[in-house]
Amino acid sequence: MMQNDVVVVGGGISGLSLAFYCVQAGMKTTILEKNDTTGGSFASPHYSANGKKFWLEMGAHTCYSSYQNLLEIIETCGMKDAIVARAKVPFTLFMDGKIKSIVSQLNIPELLFSAPNLFKLKKDGESVKSYYSKIVGTKNYREVISHFFNAVPSQLTDDFPADMMFKSRPKRKDVLKNYTFKDGLQSVARTISARSGLNVFTSQEVSSLRYVNGLYEVRTADGGEYSAKTLVLATPSLVTSKLLRDIKPDIAKHFGVLKAAEVDSLGVIVSKENISMKPVAALISPNDVFFSVVSRDTVPDDNYRGFVFHFQPGLDDKTKRSRITEVLGVGMSKIEHTFSKINTVPSLRLGHHQWLEKTNAMLKGEKSLLLTGNYFGGMAIEDCVSRSRSEFDRLQG
Ligand SMILES: Cc1cc2nc3c(=O)[nH]c(=O)nc-3n(C[C@H](O)[C@H](O)[C@H](O)COP(=O)(O)OP(=O)(O)OC[C@H]3O[C@@H](n4cnc5c(N)ncnc54)[C@H](O)[C@@H]3O)c2cc1C
Repeated sequence: MMQNDVVVVGGGISGLSLAFYCVQAGMKTTILEKNDTTGGSFASPHYSANGKKFWLEMGAHTCYSSYQNLLEIIETCGMKDAIVARAKVPFTLFMDGKIKSIVSQLNIPELLFSAPNLFKLKKDGESVKSYYSKIVGTKNYREVISHFFNAVPSQLTDDFPADMMFKSRPKRKDVLKNYTFKDGLQSVARTISARSGLNVFTSQEVSSLRYVNGLYEVRTADGGEYSAKTLVLATPSLVTSKLLRDIKPDIAKHFGVLKAAEVDSLGVIVSKENISMKPVAALISPNDVFFSVVSRDTVPDDNYRGFVFHFQPGLDDKTKRSRITEVLGVGMSKIEHTFSKINTVPSLRLGHHQWLEKTNAMLKGEKSLLLTGNYFGGMAIEDCVSRSRSEFDRLQG
């Protein structure tokens, strides 16, 4: 059995950032990741043909100057030069087969009447629907703005806690307001994974845990065995709950109440000359079979354009492909390459703060068990890295 100081289950940004902190502190650290690459929702698969190269974001796509913990890791890894600006192309609505600006669809008198509430109302204890209906007006919320919120975690967000959707955080003035990376966000995952002192094993799905004589024993579906003094679970909440069932039944039960949604994403690559749609950052089509289409037009390429459709789960391939060709106005024969990916995103609800307080209270006496992910303080990248930082501090404290 391979001995470690720390075993991290899950190689998304939550697990990678916590592993990064452990390695920096000189701990022998191993990451076990179910997929064949690390990154999780940092997924930027590459395509190349006839000497031409291209990549697409199948998950996260934008970082901000307020992502201070992430930026610290980026700088330590020597990746600051890989940061690139996003081209200023619009987030748009797709309605009646046409691209429309958001402003053109808003009821301006209703907006002007409601907007002063922005300075009076607090987000605490409010749902996304109750808070933003008062800020933009009920009709504007229902017909336009709610669809933008739904596009963020690819699910209905009416009941999300308003203060967990878009957080205001202190910004760094020396960094672009919003940015991505030269080779896509997954290059961050690749760089952290290559840190010296970090062992990364991919295609290793952890299937069971034991706690014996002060050591965690971690077993994978294909029979791998690893042991460590400290265990990190950086997996979706239901996986964490399942894995803890035998060793920490009370925590497993507490995590079992959380809900999550699956996002079924299909990315397509088209030669530039075969598509006439004007450049966009994203398309949002109210009440459609997809929540959003995220485009690569934010990092323009000489040869290709790329579009990732984030579909509702459970659709068959024919439905997805036929909607893609309708929206892009491009026949399937002109689509040069496709990628697919399923991501898991949390379905946060009012009361989540209390859930988190109870979680942290339960973990107080559990110094060797660290739990991180995108369902603690929020699902943004910086929420994940902040959670990992505070769990690492708990280990050190
Ligand atoms: C489509 C999409 C767009 C987004 N856009 C943005 C954005 O632009 N900006 C932003 O700030 N945030 C964005 N987010 C949110 C953010 O990217 C995610 O919340 C974050 O990347 C999640 O990281 P994570 O490590 O917690 O989870 P994940 O990335 O889901 O990683 C969990 C990992 O655990 C692995 N795993 C699961 N079970 C096991 C097991 N049994 N054994 C081993 N490994 C296992 C999984 O394979 C996965 O790699 C987006 C999310 C999605 C889905």
